[in-house]
Amino acid sequence: MKYVDITQKDQELIETATAIIKKNFLRGKHHVGSAVRAKSGKIYAGIHLDSQNVDVCAENVAMGMAVSNGERKFDSIVAIQMRDVPRPTIILPCKTCQELINFYETETWVIVEVDGQPKKCRAKELLTFA
Ligand SMILES: [Zn+2]
Repeated sequence: MKYVDITQKDQELIETATAIIKKNFLRGKHHVGSAVRAKSGKIYAGIHLDSQNVDVCAENVAMGMAVSNGERKFDSIVAIQMRDVPRPTIILPCKTCQELINFYETETWVIVEVDGQPKKCRAKELLTFA
């Protein structure tokens, strides 16, 4: 896997995802936020939805917001988790989200955490790695 350093714009994306989950955090219910930057430059954010039998990932919600607003190509995406301790952590999108991200744009940057540091790699690399 080839990781590269994040940019100021990526940091902004992390902050947006962190802000939306901090704002909506509910222990045991809402603990993941995601932000996606479309090729247009606009950022869309969302949190995951949870019920007894349905789990809709935050990345799906953020991308759904973007697609609903006419976006089709994505530059970068990040997911932030806040568990028991409200300390935001970058998490790897699940396999379903990886597939969805790749369906729209295989070159999308996915921000991940490597040795405690934010880095990024192409969405298609996550799939080949799996
Ligand atoms: Zn997911």
